[in-house]
Amino acid sequence: MGIRTCKKCGFILGTRPNSKDVDGVCLACLNKDRKNDIKWEERQKWLTQFIHENKNADSKWECVVGVSGGKDSCMIVKRLIECHGVKNPLLVHVCDEFTPSDAGIANLDNLVKTYNLDLLNFRCAPQTFVKETRKSFFEKLHPLEWVEKQIYAKPLEVAKAFGIPIVFMGENPAFEYGESGTCEIFHSASDDGIKIIYFGSIWPYSNADSLAQAQSMGFRTLSDFDDWQRQGSADDFTQIDSKGYMIQLWTKFIKFGFQRVSDVACRFVREGIFTKEQAEQMIKDSDWICDPLAKKDFCRAIEITEKEFDETIDKFANTEILMKDANGHWRRKDLI
Ligand SMILES: [Zn+2]
Repeated sequence: MGIRTCKKCGFILGTRPNSKDVDGVCLACLNKDRKNDIKWEERQKWLTQFIHENKNADSKWECVVGVSGGKDSCMIVKRLIECHGVKNPLLVHVCDEFTPSDAGIANLDNLVKTYNLDLLNFRCAPQTFVKETRKSFFEKLHPLEWVEKQIYAKPLEVAKAFGIPIVFMGENPAFEYGESGTCEIFHSASDDGIKIIYFGSIWPYSNADSLAQAQSMGFRTLSDFDDWQRQGSADDFTQIDSKGYMIQLWTKFIKFGFQRVSDVACRFVREGIFTKEQAEQMIKDSDWICDPLAKKDFCRAIEITEKEFDETIDKFANTEILMKDANGHWRRKDLI
């Protein structure tokens, strides 16, 4: 059977792990329609009440927010303070060993200063980062498996340590990207009396909304700085905080035939920003591109050569859907 794509948004079907499609329409598109049935205002009122009722009188912070400094972090913090009566959230940022972008540094700084908040910058053990990231890169081509676990775990550990009852995460990835048909409010790992809430299950998540909220607080994009002319991307405002981190996203292209350009461009179709044809053209033009600066930064951070990087990519390339073009780049067979 050839390569199939979603009838509505153009996303490649059948390769994303745990994903489903119905009659040629991806679950992310079906979930877009389900969003219209969710009573968002009721969820928002419920959250204000929930935060109020769950306050720990012994803690100076009402909740923990895991932040990258990106547009979603800005939107969440802004709404918690301006719409839900939160006065003092504790922001927890998990650093990796990659090089932060100038935009990422400026945006995190701006977020903290806008509302005069406490920020805990959590740097995870650097040698463990190198060891674990190399291992999951060479063995599974899932380089940031360990880092992603830390990004989930550290805000929860901080909440436990300080007796803070609620932790906020951003979007509900299973729902937004089509692995689940239900928009759960609580993360399944909620335990020890601490509740982990997906903010994207309280306010309908969209790129345009997050960007508008963030820009109203002074959020800046990659184009506002000169340090990184990013390639292999559909925009200049998502996942802009760290350079080497992009490799985690790009390796999905090698394994599954899609990466960030597909995710973002098809999401833009669902949000009415792109036509399906525009998304398909963008995917064809740039989803396969590995940003050279991201690659260099990734290799530096985990202490490998670019040759070792390339050899590992070739070993894991999904040849059912990919082939090399005349310049030696892995491309989707149907888009070459
Ligand atoms: Zn779709």
